[in-house]
Amino acid sequence: MSGPKQVLPENTDSAWSLVHRLLTEQALGQWKRYAIAFTLMGVAAGATALGAYLIGDVINAAYVDKNLPGIVTLAIVTAVIFTIKGAATYGQATMLARIGNRIVAQNQRRMFTSLVSQNIDFFSNRHSSEFMVRLQTGATSASAVINLLVTAIGRDLLSLIGLIVVMAVQDPIMSFFSFVVAPPAFIVLRKMIRRIYKIARNQFTGSTKIMETMQETVHGIRIVKAFTQEDAMRARLDANIAEFEHESNKWARVAHRASPMMEALGGFAIAGALVYGGWRVIETGATPGQFFSFLAAFMLAYEPAKRLARLNLDLSTGLVGVRILFEIIDHPPTEPNDDAKPALKLTTARVDFHDVTFGYRPEEVVVRDMTFTAEPGKMTALVGPSGGGKSTVFNLLLRFYEVGKGSIIIDGQNVAEVSRNSLRHQIAYVGQDVFLFHGTVRDNIAIGKPGASEDEIIAAAKAAHAHEFISSFPQGYDTPVGERGTQLSGGERQRVAIARALIKNAPIILLDEATASLDSESERLVQDAIEHLCQGRSTIVIAHRLHTIAHADRILVLENGSIVESGRHDELLRKGGRYAAFYRLQIKEQEPIPTIPVAS
Ligand code: ADP
Repeated sequence: MSGPKQVLPENTDSAWSLVHRLLTEQALGQWKRYAIAFTLMGVAAGATALGAYLIGDVINAAYVDKNLPGIVTLAIVTAVIFTIKGAATYGQATMLARIGNRIVAQNQRRMFTSLVSQNIDFFSNRHSSEFMVRLQTGATSASAVINLLVTAIGRDLLSLIGLIVVMAVQDPIMSFFSFVVAPPAFIVLRKMIRRIYKIARNQFTGSTKIMETMQETVHGIRIVKAFTQEDAMRARLDANIAEFEHESNKWARVAHRASPMMEALGGFAIAGALVYGGWRVIETGATPGQFFSFLAAFMLAYEPAKRLARLNLDLSTGLVGVRILFEIIDHPPTEPNDDAKPALKLTTARVDFHDVTFGYRPEEVVVRDMTFTAEPGKMTALVGPSGGGKSTVFNLLLRFYEVGKGSIIIDGQNVAEVSRNSLRHQIAYVGQDVFLFHGTVRDNIAIGKPGASEDEIIAAAKAAHAHEFISSFPQGYDTPVGERGTQLSGGERQRVAIARALIKNAPIILLDEATASLDSESERLVQDAIEHLCQGRSTIVIAHRLHTIAHADRILVLENGSIVESGRHDELLRKGGRYAAFYRLQIKEQEPIPTIPVAS
């Protein structure tokens, strides 16, 4: 099945420049909240250090001075310190979460804005689940990385500094020796970082594939069941999951490889401190309070020190997501807003193709020197074998793609030189596959004219022969039609789409007739609705069933991107060329199968 697709060029910025960009672009705007969070972290770190320091006084009060009231006082002070630490920790955690949520929200918006400013080409042939995973991973990892940095600096570094001060005050020589273990730890960690990055990237690809299979199964559940593909899909998902699991295990092995090494180094440092500290108390008369306070500070410093040492490792996992985020945000808009161009102004809505040549790929011409006119208020039909270029004509008219050579002129204005939005405002497109949005029937009709009144919606539905079936639903126009509108029949969906186009009241209609055959009653209603829609408007229709265009004002037969014949239905039949052959073929297909007379 589909392999990993690299949707976008991979971002290869260095870790440092990514972090720098994150801090300046995303964190700086929240500096006030960060200042509060840092202050609270400082309070918590101070409380931790003070707690460690006071242990020395408690031990001395107990063992040296035998002073019970002093111990009680110190105990109360300790309780207060820890309460303050608790409150400060709570405050900084909620503050950081709030900042994080804000950053996630901002990134989700930025990524979506970038997505909708891309052209159709960007989306075609790419799996939507890849975008979903990107949106999810990208948005969260920016805040994760920033929070990682902030807590590393704010919580771990401040605590470490506080505790080192306590250690240095209690025993400067011992403090110095405790830190000789740091350099070897850093050297080993550095080596692991590059591997981690590669594994994390594979994990991302793996999770994309899982989403892809799940999404395809959900969307295509009818086909999956009808073709009994459950086991095949399960096997595919199993393979995706096994791959992801394998990568995740690899990640765990490498990422946690640091722990045993650091624990062992820490153990040696503590052992050394114990021997030296014990020797100091026994041989040189140092107070036990000093010894305990030092040990407490040392043990408390161990966790933040460990986290700081791992920081680079954890950052490099998070930065995979940040790269994914920037890959989307930085993608230059392939369909940049061109509202600055003049707006298309229609008088009669006459559409002219002048020697239009176009190909989706440079080496492949799909539309060749095409010239035709769709007369104002008339119906022009495009017919021909599949792959002839009919849909491409629509794609070019809607400016989903720009013409290669030649021009498309509407009422004397080149569509390439007017704003895309003004062009699309004047065109109502009814496609074969009617896409209904999550929402009610009313919402789906109103898409054609945001803010349409109830009367307008009902009038459009009536003209599209949709009012009757909509009113027959218990919830009427408030009936939810679901993500893909599965509750409506094919003919009903089409009539909703026609109502949507009617309410838009655009002077140009592009109609891609549905190929799926409807029952004759349903077809009659759809046909009638289409007639309402096309009345007095310049209509270009892609016709699959020729009897529907018998009355078209002009029929263009398209083959291999060229118009090979044109004229009215009767003329073309009389001519006995491509259209006539086409027509005969269809009539033959529709002839009833002769029934065998049954002998009585
Ligand atoms: P029709 O609508 O007459 O069936 P199309 O306009 O859809 O024909 O297609 C014309 C040709 O362009 C076909 O050969 C088709 O494979 C190709 N084509 C259509 N869309 C794309 C695309 N997005 N990328 C590349 N080729 C395409």
